[in-house]
Order: sequence, then C-alpha cells, then structure tokens
Amino acid sequence: MVKSHAPTNMLRFFIFVIFITSYGTRLHGQVDLKGLVLLIDFADDPMDLPVARVDSLMNGITYTEDDVPHTIRNYYMVQSRDSISLTHKIFGYYRAPETAAWYADQEWTIVYDLLTDALDSMVAQNPDFDWDQLSINDKPWAYESFLSINVVTTAWVAGSGGTHYLPDGDWVAPNGVKVRAFTSQALTSPWDPTFVRLFVIAHEIGHAAWGFPDTYDYDGSSYGTGFYSVMSGNQLAGEVEPIGGPFFVDAGWASVIDIEPNGGYTLPIDGKLVARYVNPSNPNEYFLIEACKNSTPGNAAFPVEKGLVIWHIDEDVTTFNTLENRTLSEHYAYSIEQKDGLYDLENGVNQGDAGDIYVEGSLFSSSTNPNSNWWNDEASGLNINSIEFLDDNTIRFCNGTCVASTPENNSENSFQVYDNNKGELIVQTVHAPSDNYTLEIINMLGAVLVSETFNLADHQVMNTFSFSLAGLSSDLYIVRLIGQETEFVQTKKVSLN
Ligand SMILES: [Zn+2]
Repeated sequence: MVKSHAPTNMLRFFIFVIFITSYGTRLHGQVDLKGLVLLIDFADDPMDLPVARVDSLMNGITYTEDDVPHTIRNYYMVQSRDSISLTHKIFGYYRAPETAAWYADQEWTIVYDLLTDALDSMVAQNPDFDWDQLSINDKPWAYESFLSINVVTTAWVAGSGGTHYLPDGDWVAPNGVKVRAFTSQALTSPWDPTFVRLFVIAHEIGHAAWGFPDTYDYDGSSYGTGFYSVMSGNQLAGEVEPIGGPFFVDAGWASVIDIEPNGGYTLPIDGKLVARYVNPSNPNEYFLIEACKNSTPGNAAFPVEKGLVIWHIDEDVTTFNTLENRTLSEHYAYSIEQKDGLYDLENGVNQGDAGDIYVEGSLFSSSTNPNSNWWNDEASGLNINSIEFLDDNTIRFCNGTCVASTPENNSENSFQVYDNNKGELIVQTVHAPSDNYTLEIINMLGAVLVSETFNLADHQVMNTFSFSLAGLSSDLYIVRLIGQETEFVQTKKVSLN
C-alpha cells in the first residue's frame, strides 16, 4: 500500500478549480464514474471468484456477503456523500504466462508486465470495447490518464496490495488514453482464499484515483489515524473504514467552512460540510473538524454513536504518519486529536476508542490535553466548546464565546432565521451590536449563494429584515451573519421549503 503519492497542496488547488467549474452538476446529482477491473489467474492458482460475483462485489448497490456489508460502489457512494457512483467494467479471467509462485518471487515491478499483458489480451479479445466509456483522471499527477484501472489476481504476488504508476505512455488504449496509476491486489485474504475483503481495493483506489496519502505508520510503531480513515484502517473485518475528512474534502466531495473567532458552527453528520481552522502563519497547517456517526456505512468502528473528530494536519510533513513523537520536528502529517489525552494512536495502543471523540461537554482549547496549539506550541486560538447534538442530524459547536451568550448581546438568540413560505428569508436580530452586517446563505457544499448587506443602528433591541430566496431550491442551508466592524459572526441552519 506504499507507493508514490500526490502533492496534496497542488491537488487541493486543482480540486477547488474543478469543484467550482463543475459545481452545477455536483449540486443535484451524482457523477457517474467508470473504471476497469482485470481479473488474472495462474496455472497454479486458477480462477476462484466467478466473474459475476466480482461484478456484484464491485458494482452492486445493495449486494452483501457475510463479511462484505458494502460493495465498492456503495462504499464510495456513501463516503463521497452521494457525489459519485463508481462502477467498474470487469474483464477476465486472463491466464498469466507464468505461475503465481514465479510472480511471487519477482521484483514488484513485474506487476507492470502482468498489467500490460492482461491489457493487451483484453484488447485482442474485445476489439469492440468502447474505451471512451472509462472515466479520465483530471488530477495534475495523472492528467488525462484513466481514473481507475485495477489488477485483481487470484494469488498475492509481487506488487499486490499496491498502487503503481506506469511510466508515462507505457501503455496506451485504442482510444489514445494512457494507463498511469493502477492498483494491484487480490480480493481474497492471503490466508484464506474463501474470505473476500474489500479493504485493500478500497484503499488502493483511494491512492490511484484520488491521490489520498497513507496515514498508517510505515514502520508499524504506531497507529496513525487508526480506524478513522481507510488510508490507515484495516480492521481485518468486513467493514471498510471511512475516507476521512481531509481526503473527502480533497476529492471535492465536501466543502469547508472556515472557523472564525467567536462563532457558532453547525455541521451535518457525515454530510458535505466540514469546519477548518487554518494557521494564519502557515496555510499548510490546520485543524479540520468532521461530524460523524457510527450508523453510516463505513463507520461501524466509529467508537461512539456520534461526535466530532478533530484532525490536526500539517501538509508540510513529508514522512506521512511515520513519526509519532508529537514534537515540532517529528509529528504526523495527519493526526487525530484524542480527547482523553492518552495518545493511544501515537503510542500504538489501539486504532481508536470512545475517548477520542468530542461529544457534548467536551472541550478543546489551549488549556486542554490535548491542546489546540500549533505544532510550534503557539496558541492557535481554537477553543471548541458548547458541543450540541441537534435533532436534525447535525452537531453544533462554538469556537470561543458564541456571541449570543456574551453580556453585550444578552439574548441566547442574537438572531433567528426562518423561511416565511412566501419566498423570503426572515432574519430577526435581538440585541445584536450596531454595525454593517453581511448576510450570507451558504449551501451544504459551502458555496455562498446569497450575500447581502444591511445596517443595524444603535440601541435597536429587535429588528426584522427580509431577504429574497429566489433561485434557491428546497434544501438545508447555513445562514451566516458577519458584522463588518465588530467581530460578530453567527451561523444558523435553515431548512427552506
Ligand atoms: Zn497505501
């Protein structure tokens, strides 16, 4: 599972551009994506899983087996927040020219030959196959090559359990598109060929198609991000771990809302919005907060019913999650803040437990353990408190003092928003500080759809304003009110009818 990895900064920028340009199609529907699975067997390890069963394991929606609660398509559909429907065209079986025992003895680069031999055979036997139906990867590091090409062997051989990159132009499909990134694995476990597990292919597709990095410890001395991400998980059970906040954001499947001082934030649980707090002196270091629940497919190992997972990310770290010392010079690229302060992941004690999750009553600030300081030990100012589980599958929290509860704004609800069912959003302010305000209506992808300004004069105890909802569909939105002079920032959730 260790191979070359994408530069995530560049990737983030690129994804952002893609996200903006394709915004209209992503808002209301899934994007259909198609890849290829090449089934390969050997004289000494012949076909085990019938093609139809592999098809069900990869492409089924409700298909399950005893140890396979979710297909690859269903896993990626749920974990992408319904952003994608990823299916694979299955070809096989191709009989490798040498035995599995022979391939097991070679250098891992032999997998290049295995792949290109299988592709050549597939082209020869399927001259009418429409290669244009396969999706193209638009990431800078795999630009205009196929999105998801996967070698599935009956035996574990050299190169299995890895994502590999064919040298540029090494194999070109009849439609002129290159094969660059590809995965290689078996779907059965090495110790029991009757036991299908989809973890490895889910993880490798994460690398090959989206450039997600590994977040386990390469030397095995700690647990990285444990079962909080498929890039470090592997519970040896049927369930595949979740993608993890930083990665589904990178893939463009969710958006971020930047946390500001003294504001309240509401996150949909396992939805399309996460909260971020960026180090102003280093944009590559930030906290990311995602709301999760264990009933979401992929989250079976999530150790409490629901709560916040707080990530501390340093994209400047080039050693991934191999250095677990939690010091400025040696720390993970992707850390999970573990509320109980036991650092079980770094200490190699477990892959996660209930003490890690921020729930109602939990605090995260410069004076908690773990604290919210940056890696250089400077206080970040992040001060998470007042976590509240709301009835509508969302979790709310405050950073610092939610302005509504300060003495100057002595109402618990400094502003209320609601849809008056006449095409207007009604905003009612109570004891809000006088200022010029910007009102923003933000969708669950984080896009600001409406931005309007209004003024509140001194000593106005209560005010009511109305804003047109023209052009907004029925959905859940975030409304953010920002005072331009004061530091008043509040967000509320509103469901439009
Ligand atoms: Zn890997």
